[in-house]
Amino acid sequence: MRNADKHMGSILRRVKENGFLLILDFDGVLAPIVARPRMARVSRRTRACLAKCAAGGRVAVISGRALADVRARVNQAGVWYAGNHGAEWRMGKMRGREKLTRAACAKLSEARRAFTELSRCYRGVVVEDKKLTFSVHFRALARRRVARFSREMRSISKQFTNFLDISEGSEYIFNIRSLESRTKGDAVRLASRCSLAKAVPIYIGDDATDEDAFRALTDGITIRVGRSSKSAAKYYFSTRASVDKLLRNLA
Ligand SMILES: [Mg+2]
Repeated sequence: MRNADKHMGSILRRVKENGFLLILDFDGVLAPIVARPRMARVSRRTRACLAKCAAGGRVAVISGRALADVRARVNQAGVWYAGNHGAEWRMGKMRGREKLTRAACAKLSEARRAFTELSRCYRGVVVEDKKLTFSVHFRALARRRVARFSREMRSISKQFTNFLDISEGSEYIFNIRSLESRTKGDAVRLASRCSLAKAVPIYIGDDATDEDAFRALTDGITIRVGRSSKSAAKYYFSTRASVDKLLRNLA
């Protein structure tokens, strides 16, 4: 993994010749992580750069949030979106929403019920139903209870491993999706297909579900916010502030 800040020059040279398809995760990338997910917002400065990027190239935001949620938070003309980790999308004229099988829906509901029941024993834990997927947020849980809660989550998760992908994010969140579901990797492939062939794809993400996108973009510039030896991303940014720097340079 290479430090993207140190290779900014070569990244920008590659983009300058061919144009770009800039794909961004939302939480932890475009917007700083906050205690309550509904408080997350894009700063005015980031927003201004994003608008310029959207005018000069293609920009897509791909998030684990529901499509309507992430779209309302970015609210930028010309930007493409995918929500629910890629299960719903709105990219130019391409609009769609995955239809899960009845069996997948049943397992998802079963898991949601089990985790909701567990959450009642832990003050501050919130289960967010996003229809195609759901999340369990525990950032507001007292720190001394986190280890025990995570242990119980993992224990319940075991019975669903054949049906569901339950991944623990880096920011006090569990994301639960059907194994049948489309991933951020699918969303990235869709965005690439709909863009100019020569445009250089740049993907920036910070979490477990972004790994699908990193792996899908073998020829692209993939950047993880936060260094991790386990990531499939080629580059890393030490902090989210570097995202703004890249946006400024692209703009
Ligand atoms: Mg994120």
